[in-house]
Formats: sequence, C-alpha cells, structure tokens
Amino acid sequence: MKEVRVEEGQTCPHCKKTGHTEEKCWPLHPELAVEHLQEKVRNVLKSQARDALARIGSMTAGVRKTFIG
Ligand SMILES: [Zn+2]
Repeated sequence: MKEVRVEEGQTCPHCKKTGHTEEKCWPLHPELAVEHLQEKVRNVLKSQARDALARIGSMTAGVRKTFIG
C-alpha cells in the first residue's frame, strides 16, 4: 500500500508545488479548490460573526456600566 497522505515537503508531480500530492492538486481537481475556498469563506464569516458578537457583548457591558453601574 502506498502512503497517499499529504505531508509537508512533498512535491506534486503535476504542478511541482510542495505541500500536496497529485491527488490534491488544484489544477487537476478544480473542485477541490472550490471546496477549499468555500470553506475559507465560511470560516471568515464565522469569525466575523464571532467578532460582531464580541463587539455587541462589550457594547452591552459598556451600556450596562453607564446606565446601571
Ligand atoms: Zn499540484
């Protein structure tokens, strides 16, 4: 059995870039790139939502401090 896991330092035989194998090569598998980008967008949106919630939380705390003490 051949080890097909992506390891650092690996060079792709297709595009000669490191960090992935031919199996995970985006030029060969554009759908993987799309998936990756979608995941990235999801993560950004998630972290933005977290930031927004944190900001609202601290705003609420500030308002409470101002009006309630
Ligand atoms: Zn490649």
